[in-house]
Amino acid sequence: MTGTVHTSALRGRAEIDLGALRGNVRALRARLAPGAGLMAVVKSDAYGHGALPCARAALDAGALWLGTATPHEALALRDAGIRAPILCWLWTPGDPWREGIEAGLDMSVSAMWALREVTRAAREAGRTARIQLKADTGLGRNGCQPADWPELVAAARAAEVAGTVRVTGLWSHFACADEPGHPSTAAQLDVFHELVAYAEKAGIEPEVRHIANSPAALTLPESHFDLVRTGIALYGISPSSELGSSAEFGLRPVMTLTASVALVKRVPEGHGVSYGHRYRTPAETTLGLIPLGYADGVPRHASGKGPVLVGGEVRRVAGRIAMDQFVVDLGTGPDADAVREGAPAVLFGPGDRGEPTAADWAEAADTIAYEIVTRIGPRVPRVYVDGADGQEEGVGGDGRGAGR
Ligand SMILES: *Cc1c(COP(=O)(O)O)cnc(C)c1O
Repeated sequence: MTGTVHTSALRGRAEIDLGALRGNVRALRARLAPGAGLMAVVKSDAYGHGALPCARAALDAGALWLGTATPHEALALRDAGIRAPILCWLWTPGDPWREGIEAGLDMSVSAMWALREVTRAAREAGRTARIQLKADTGLGRNGCQPADWPELVAAARAAEVAGTVRVTGLWSHFACADEPGHPSTAAQLDVFHELVAYAEKAGIEPEVRHIANSPAALTLPESHFDLVRTGIALYGISPSSELGSSAEFGLRPVMTLTASVALVKRVPEGHGVSYGHRYRTPAETTLGLIPLGYADGVPRHASGKGPVLVGGEVRRVAGRIAMDQFVVDLGTGPDADAVREGAPAVLFGPGDRGEPTAADWAEAADTIAYEIVTRIGPRVPRVYVDGADGQEEGVGGDGRGAGR
């Protein structure tokens, strides 16, 4: 991640509002079915927001668990001193099972190969591994097929009896929870109930059973069980506009992506703009150069479409987004004339000061808002602020000034 930077004169910055993140955790907890806790999913550097500061803020606001994809992400949180339970679920042969055991991670097991690797590592470490068995209840991605579940459960139970593992969780993941009323969701819940009952009958006593992601946490209380695993909602973004807006769920977007206008210049009518001349000025006009590009995660697919608030108005990207920069046509109105080099250009934020949102950029790039925030690259410094008091807390991805 980015190291120390100067907060003044930033080419571009992603402001991360940890107060908003804590508020989102509280809003989500208020929706949980009785007895359910919240796992803050902080994989992929907390969807681009910075894993460590976001993990700490989420725990402060009452999250009980953290979730990551890779073991390396989970080990980095432990190395930074986080002691809360952490589940990591994306394992590949040869991954650091032993380090995971020694760090007290909860490690997901979807198949016999993984159970073999983790039991071997547990014998070598002389310690019991905490594992969670993952079922594929219909997603068709990771997880153990129902047909293979009896073999995995029996082997895991035998490993419990031998003392190499303790099965702390039984879990699964939805395919279409963001599509209201999709029949696969109820079908997956039925299968999950059956597979949990099967494992419990075989003698497994999980601490937690869980299947809900953000959309299910927001709309399906019957899916909450002991834990919900929320990612995108923590960051204040609605999982899908079909389900409702952030505001309707009481969520506030955490990331604001801003750049400083790098150049303002007058050009004549008919001037081609950026690679391929996909935009030509319809009249004499003023162009503004925004010093962020696809290397920073600004999606090239949003060329000609991405919205930017600059000079008091939302403008569209003119022509192609390049690796490091793109152009907006400021026009010739009085607002445009007032734009000078160094003026702020807001690509997205919470949306309540007239700026576009990550959801708007997702629409422009024909993708989902998850991808918009997660892809903001390491060249863009994260600047941690706290909306509660407007204080700047620190800069960079190393977690300094993250609230405690
Ligand atoms: C990413 C992920 C989540 C979080 O999903 P959101 O839709 O962002 O809440 C939960 N569980 C698993 C297994 C995931 O990979």
